[in-house]
Amino acid sequence: MEETLKILVVDDDEVDRMAVRSALTEAGVQMELSEVSDSNDAFSALSTTAYDCVFLDYRLPLQDGLTLIQQLRYSEIQVPLVVLTGQGDEQITGELIKAGATDYLSKSRISPENLAQVLRSAIRIYRAEMQATLAKEELIRKNQELERQQQHIQMQNFKLLETSRLKSHFLATMSHELRTPMNAIIGFSQILLRPKFGQLTHQQADMVERILNNGKHLLMLLNEVLDFSKLEVGRLDLKAEIFDVSKIVNQAVNEMRSLADAKNLSLLVQNHLQNPSVFNDPVRIKQILINLLSNAIKFTESGEIWVEVKELPEKKVAIIVRDTGIGIASRDFKRIFEAFRQVDQTITRKYQGTGLGLAIVDSLVRMMGGKIFLESKVGMGSMFKIELPRQIKLTNVTANSPNSQDDDGNFYSPKNSHQSSSEPREAPIGYPKFKI
Ligand code: ADP
Repeated sequence: MEETLKILVVDDDEVDRMAVRSALTEAGVQMELSEVSDSNDAFSALSTTAYDCVFLDYRLPLQDGLTLIQQLRYSEIQVPLVVLTGQGDEQITGELIKAGATDYLSKSRISPENLAQVLRSAIRIYRAEMQATLAKEELIRKNQELERQQQHIQMQNFKLLETSRLKSHFLATMSHELRTPMNAIIGFSQILLRPKFGQLTHQQADMVERILNNGKHLLMLLNEVLDFSKLEVGRLDLKAEIFDVSKIVNQAVNEMRSLADAKNLSLLVQNHLQNPSVFNDPVRIKQILINLLSNAIKFTESGEIWVEVKELPEKKVAIIVRDTGIGIASRDFKRIFEAFRQVDQTITRKYQGTGLGLAIVDSLVRMMGGKIFLESKVGMGSMFKIELPRQIKLTNVTANSPNSQDDDGNFYSPKNSHQSSSEPREAPIGYPKFKI
């Protein structure tokens, strides 16, 4: 060993101390050696000085080596300790190691080689133990830090959830509250446009019509926000009944026709359904269609829009809306179904909208147990395909007519239950998306 080691020899017998010193010197150990003859002096020396190794006689006058070792451990004084045992002390060696001694050596075996070897291995073992302890302490510290971070993240999560809940609540309340004055604006402008309330000049009529159209547009936006906030907190229920899906498709298409005409776009319907009966929420099906159709019209400058309805295997129905519009890049396919997401998010964007339409469609289709497929190419057009079970499952659904379906997919209902919902319902997005 090249370093100079600080060594303490604790032995009441001067001859034994000398034997240790000579053996270590003979072995060529570079050292600063100190000697004490009892455990009190040993304890004081070890309390004030850091030694590299201690050779400790087991049989000391005031207290034995084992008691000193325990005292040192109790005081958290750590040092490599080699106990030198005499004859008859063999049975105590296990206890010495357990108490914290690094090694032991019988006094009868003291020789330069043995002592140097036991010294080296005691120091090595001690240093390895120290490293292990340090690594363990570091691990414990890191674990505690991780736990603190985890708690912090949980807290943040909790705050985020709370904020999101408040946001949904705010959106729902605001959109609900704003609908009342909006309905008044729409209602009174409609009244003003009726000739029996007096003739308006051409310019006045034009202005009232703009108020009406903008009012309808605003109401549509409010309804979108209200629906979205309800969907977000799971407070939107489907009201299912048996109805003719072709009729709903035709109704939606007819409502949108004037918008398509205004842009010189053909709007075609292809109905391939043998059996048009489905058990679902007709208002929400229409809402899905109106959203897809208004997007198709909005994002198409020339060409056609087709709506196709067809049967699928496994008692499913597909509703497909195709357009020859601007198309969507595949990298945006996922994004556009997220709330408030639009391909063009700039302030100066050409197309208006809340970015909620497809998020609402997506949530509704999921609630119905269906799937949406999108195919599109930039500049070529888009195809949104909705696959829905002919009969939706009764979770989150208020059934208006309990029914069953036979093997051919035809619905049949118990007596007296074949009626539509008696509860009056608001059309959620009854108005097409008008341009202001
Ligand atoms: P909004 O129409 O109010 O912007 P949507 O959620 O309905 O919101 O649609 C999100 C985005 O998806 C649109 O802003 C548009 O970028 C893109 N998109 C939806 N439908 C079409 C379509 N038929 N053709 C091209 N882009 C579309």
